Amino acid sequence: MYPWFIALHHKLMRSAAAQSLHHALLINAKPGMGKHEFVHTLANDLLCHAPFNLTACGQCQSCLLNNAHTHPDRYVIASDKQISVNEIREALVKLQDHAQLSQRKVLIIEHADTMTEAAANALLKTLEEPTDNTYLLLTVSDIQRLLPTILSRCEKNSVTAPSAAEITSWLHETHQQTVAEDMMRAYQYAPLSIATALLETPETNYLSFKQDLGAIKKGQMHSVSFAQKWHQQAYQCLGWLQLMLQSKCLNAPDDASRLHYLDVSEFVRTEMQRVHHQGINKRLVLSHVIDKVMS
Ligand SMILES: [Zn+2]
Repeated sequence: MYPWFIALHHKLMRSAAAQSLHHALLINAKPGMGKHEFVHTLANDLLCHAPFNLTACGQCQSCLLNNAHTHPDRYVIASDKQISVNEIREALVKLQDHAQLSQRKVLIIEHADTMTEAAANALLKTLEEPTDNTYLLLTVSDIQRLLPTILSRCEKNSVTAPSAAEITSWLHETHQQTVAEDMMRAYQYAPLSIATALLETPETNYLSFKQDLGAIKKGQMHSVSFAQKWHQQAYQCLGWLQLMLQSKCLNAPDDASRLHYLDVSEFVRTEMQRVHHQGINKRLVLSHVIDKVMS
């Protein structure tokens, strides 16, 4: 289990052992924190017949079925785009049945913030009148997008990003990698995003972005080639530029340079809004911004 989820896991499983676990748990964490893995582990632990140290034993029938993804009392709804009312209704019908194997039933709803309003309304009744020993595990990346009626009926558990020191030790232990803090900031201190960027997309991660900026500064790369390489990530690049400018602004030696960085930062912010518009030439925007920022 990811270290930044351990305290929450402990709290929830202790409540479960004491028969006082809330029937609807909302797990709120930004992308790249590993909440998908967390809720699935939690479901295994809740369904296990003989948990050891608050963790699934891995050997009982329930654990074996969970490992084979065929547990009859475990339901999952997951959608990156939108969760429809039909998906919610189908799952709720299944939840009406008695637990077949475990004493408990678990319904996982991932990306619950993508439920349509009708889907959320269909879920409300179950949240208000839960069936015995049924647990709903909802994950969200943006809690503000949930209907207040859903929010008020769930126990909210927000997991914040770990500290730089925690990320450093986790990256070292699991991937034998070290990163500077500006790399962590570029990925909002979300450990899995940092690891993915380092290991899977070295050509288009923040470090590569910084290298290319360095090349432009030395006259070894033209802003047009830069834009050609990065235009598909234009929005993220402009966000990274803003972070760099903010940091320069904070460390500026005098008011004049501070004002200069503020001014450029404001310009980049406006351009960020522009790249969201359809039909905009992102290559052009990016090379224009780079020319201005690097001048
Ligand atoms: Zn077990």
